[in-house]
Amino acid sequence: MQRLQIQVRTQCRRCGALMRADLDDLVARYGASASLIDRQERCRMVACDGATFYLGARRHGEPWRILLDAAALRDGLSLCPPAHLAHGRPAPVANAADLLIPGRR
Ligand SMILES: [Zn+2]
Repeated sequence: MQRLQIQVRTQCRRCGALMRADLDDLVARYGASASLIDRQERCRMVACDGATFYLGARRHGEPWRILLDAAALRDGLSLCPPAHLAHGRPAPVANAADLLIPGRR
């Protein structure tokens, strides 16, 4: 992912915050061969104890894909609050959660 310059974000299951993730930081923490699929981490928003999952996009402007494969981890996505950007603004239509619905962009 780092070599391909994939764009990476996290989305919190509890507060819905979308946050940029830095691939250099992830490589430093987990190693260059680590996978982000099915990896969850604690939300970095102050006062949130939710778990985040990763989203990836091949390049700027491409659709975001949820990097969850395990059915048990995907099952709860429908219960998550809508993803939001800074200042509580709703995520654009290209929000990854929409990609779970076939044919909808
Ligand atoms: Zn959160």
